Amino acid sequence: LGRKLNAALSSLNRAPIVDEKVLDTLLKDVCAALLETDVNVKLVAQLRQKVKAKVKASLESGADKGKDVNRKSIVQKAIFDELVQLVDPGVEPYKPKKGQSNVIMAVGLQGNGKTTTCTKLAVYYQKRGFKSCIVCADTFRAGAFDQTRQSATKAKVAYFGSYTETDPVAIAAQGVAKFKKERFDVIIVDTSGRHKQESELFQEMVQIGEAVKPNMTIMILDASIGQAAEAQARAFKESSNFGAIIVTKMDGHAKGGGAISAVAVTKTPIIFLGVGEHLHDLEKFSPQPFISKLLGLGDVQGLMEHMQDIATQNPDKQKEIAKKLEEGKLSIRDWREQIQNVMSMGPISKIASMIPGLPQEIVQGSDEEGSMRMKRMIYISDSMTAAELDSDGSPFMEFGKDGKPIGLTSRVTRVARGSGTSVREVEELLCQYRMMANMAKQAGGKNGWLQAAQKMQ
Ligand code: GDP
Ligand code: MG
Repeated sequence: LGRKLNAALSSLNRAPIVDEKVLDTLLKDVCAALLETDVNVKLVAQLRQKVKAKVKASLESGADKGKDVNRKSIVQKAIFDELVQLVDPGVEPYKPKKGQSNVIMAVGLQGNGKTTTCTKLAVYYQKRGFKSCIVCADTFRAGAFDQTRQSATKAKVAYFGSYTETDPVAIAAQGVAKFKKERFDVIIVDTSGRHKQESELFQEMVQIGEAVKPNMTIMILDASIGQAAEAQARAFKESSNFGAIIVTKMDGHAKGGGAISAVAVTKTPIIFLGVGEHLHDLEKFSPQPFISKLLGLGDVQGLMEHMQDIATQNPDKQKEIAKKLEEGKLSIRDWREQIQNVMSMGPISKIASMIPGLPQEIVQGSDEEGSMRMKRMIYISDSMTAAELDSDGSPFMEFGKDGKPIGLTSRVTRVARGSGTSVREVEELLCQYRMMANMAKQAGGKNGWLQAAQKMQ
């Protein structure tokens, strides 16, 4: 989806003039891309109407000042805003609070990824200082408790369940009571699913809900079921009035559009995306960054959050970096440190797509290729002297009389030779570093940084 939307928008950028015909073609492409991923037909038609109306109103008010370049950004912004609307019901989801018990209940059909997601959630909150645990209230599926036990043990979170008790309501109540007494902050109740939406299942959800009184009920939706997601969400909404959605299996060539339509139908926000089978394959979801990433504009906010996660281990260092960013004094050494942080954060392709301005090979290549390229960036900086690392890159540049860079110094050749790379690669690294540093300087601060990054596209 992202690639198609991206292509549609770049064809807009290439169009010499922006008239009705260009807009129509663009909207046709955008809508086709959305339909292909199973976004509800009605929603797509609405989006098209709204974008057209918005652009028309803007143009009539003369906001383009007769210039095509302004017209382009009006069109782009209208599409961006409407795509954001599609995934943003305008409702704030519940946020667990420290120092109290927060009961979270997961519902959804069998195979949608409830048990996996419960463990991921427990790990997510545990990492953020919430004492977390899982209650397995699935007595329907043989081996359900074993699955919870195994994954919870692996994740090092507490769990509760039973091999003998057959009443899911009783287990849920016992488990939650026990963990509340033990002062757990986040208590996640995993429930059973069935293959079909049966009245028996919905009754069970209602009863468990009454027994544990969840602060938040989350519907777990599988991205790969396409259009069916909508009907499922509707049915669950009636029985368990969930307040949040997690869409799983967004890795793979998922038709996530169906699940996106579920947001609009149930007016419920998505809070996370499941992006793999492993414990850490859980991404926080926010509408704007999601669409931004989808359109190839990067996700600086998400990146910042990732960095902050890492920074909790070293808050002083991160404060220093933030200050440097703001003052436009980020050195090559700082930039290298950030790359190393990125490398420690997980699969490169996922992280890289959040960083605006990274070469496409890293963003779209395989993880091995991506991490290879990142490693080469580290090798290159390893061959720099301490003074060079602490600089803003100027020792590598030759400047003309007017102070503008006119070429590279022989230091570049030395670094290329020392690191076993090429002059071109060293040059590239310097370019990327400068881009980041300039962006930060122009924007002065992390919020402005996002805007600057988006403007650069
Ligand atoms: P439940 O029946 O709803 O509890 O579903 P499970 O948690 O047992 O998951 C069903 C299958 O989906 C398992 O094989 C999981 O590994 C897989 N799964 C869950 N979440 C994801 C995800 O985000 N990505 C991928 N690729 N697989 C997932
Ligand atoms: Mg399960």
